[in-house]
Amino acid sequence: MLVKQGAVAFLTYHRLVAPGVRTVHYDVSLADFERQMEEVSTRVRSVSGPLIQMMDGTHVCLSFDDGTSDHLDGAEVLAGQGLPAVFFIVVDRLESKGYLGRADVRRLAESGHTIGSHSMSHRRLTKLSFEQRRKECERSKAALEDLIGAEVAWFAFPNGDYSLDCFIAAEIAGYKVMRTMEWGYAGFPLEGKVRCWPMFGHRDLAAFRRILDGRARAWPYRIKQGVKTVLPEGAYTRLRDQALVGGR
Ligand SMILES: [Zn+2]
Repeated sequence: MLVKQGAVAFLTYHRLVAPGVRTVHYDVSLADFERQMEEVSTRVRSVSGPLIQMMDGTHVCLSFDDGTSDHLDGAEVLAGQGLPAVFFIVVDRLESKGYLGRADVRRLAESGHTIGSHSMSHRRLTKLSFEQRRKECERSKAALEDLIGAEVAWFAFPNGDYSLDCFIAAEIAGYKVMRTMEWGYAGFPLEGKVRCWPMFGHRDLAAFRRILDGRARAWPYRIKQGVKTVLPEGAYTRLRDQALVGGR
């Protein structure tokens, strides 16, 4: 095994879409998601909170970013397999078109899922003042705790964008787990800043199994970071989505 015993494959999903829907980078078809969850369920030894312990001693943590309404379809699939997940919610988007409502979030928490904060407004924290950043972290935590009546200890940086100051703001707000979008396996137990594997529409089942097997590689991420630094903002995303959608 290539990853440390106990390591966590923290999987980050965004939208789950119907087959044939024009997708962007992070969209995963609901059918693919179903197959992936079937694969996970064949390997489960036990479940503790949002952590799924696998037969080989490693862990998987499933998560959804942005709180879009399609995540209810995801929750239905999870319920069928008895799997837990973390739902990172953007508080200001609750009840708006295409997003979960307050009652949905409450129901997800009641079904045993973990609710995390994905900030108030989804603005990039590095672009904000200290005071604004603090509000994004603290207000969203308080609002979600008020909504579900339990502690909210997980935070996901909007756009995976963070600096040391952002990390400190989240820590002061009281979060225990802060998820970045840096690729890689997270250590166990999950605490502080953690890495993840973003899920893309073009990851096939073999690629998915490589992640579960502890054999996925983070080098495409490092190349991406390298490309990003030489392209103007936005250009990288456009090129990437054109390549992915156009290449289908
Ligand atoms: Zn997001």
